[in-house]
Amino acid sequence: MNFHVLTLFPEMIEGGLNASITGRAMEKELVNVNAVNIRDYAMNKHKRVDDYPYGGGAGMVMQAEPIYLAYEDLMRKINTKNPRVVYLTPQGQTFHQNMAQDFAKENDIILLCGHYEGVDERVLEMIVTDYVSIGDYVLTGGELPAMVMIDAISRLVPGVLHNDTSAEFESFQEDLLEYPQYTRPEVFMDKKVPDVLLSGHHANIEAWRKEQSVLRTKERRPDLYERYIHQKIT
Ligand code: SAM
Repeated sequence: MNFHVLTLFPEMIEGGLNASITGRAMEKELVNVNAVNIRDYAMNKHKRVDDYPYGGGAGMVMQAEPIYLAYEDLMRKINTKNPRVVYLTPQGQTFHQNMAQDFAKENDIILLCGHYEGVDERVLEMIVTDYVSIGDYVLTGGELPAMVMIDAISRLVPGVLHNDTSAEFESFQEDLLEYPQYTRPEVFMDKKVPDVLLSGHHANIEAWRKEQSVLRTKERRPDLYERYIHQKIT
């Protein structure tokens, strides 16, 4: 699976993903992250990629041309004919686990990171297929959101997690949060691991975990719990 990130700060993308599980996935070539520097496609002497907004207002806007040229060059190099092109923006659909699962089916995904006040609308209209936000707050750039997406999608690629079942029973499956987890020691500062987890009785453990998932979801995410209940009824 190939992620192509159009960015003004390739070093952020490269530095942010080459550790831990995503780093190992790249080493094993299960996932490939290709950070493309938009500035390399600036056609002026000073490598300028932004300008003042028409109509006035604060800040600068990323220009259409270098982004379009970077995209065009990338399209010449990749095999996928109509790859999904994601613009990371607070104005997009909020990213969630089902979306990650959907994106994990692709071979190539292009992620466009904005900066400053954003990107000239015309190039967005020309190349973008998906507008994605990572939440209702405004960040300085699209690099962190792109890394969030890459991390969440990569771990769903077969072979990336050591144990493929660890992505199977996780939060948001069936609209539930995951049950609480414990590891050694059995007693930590007088707090004991629940007995059932030490019983070796798999059916009881499963039942306890399901119950905990439901309770936790009801308490922490009533919106998800409503969906879970609704699904069970229908
Ligand atoms: N002026 C824009 C607006 O009000 O919608 C915000 C621009 S923001 C300062 C700069 C860039 O950061 C955006 O172009 C986008 O790529 C990225 N960004 C900021 N917040 C984001 C979020 N919540 N999700 C995804 N991308 C975000």
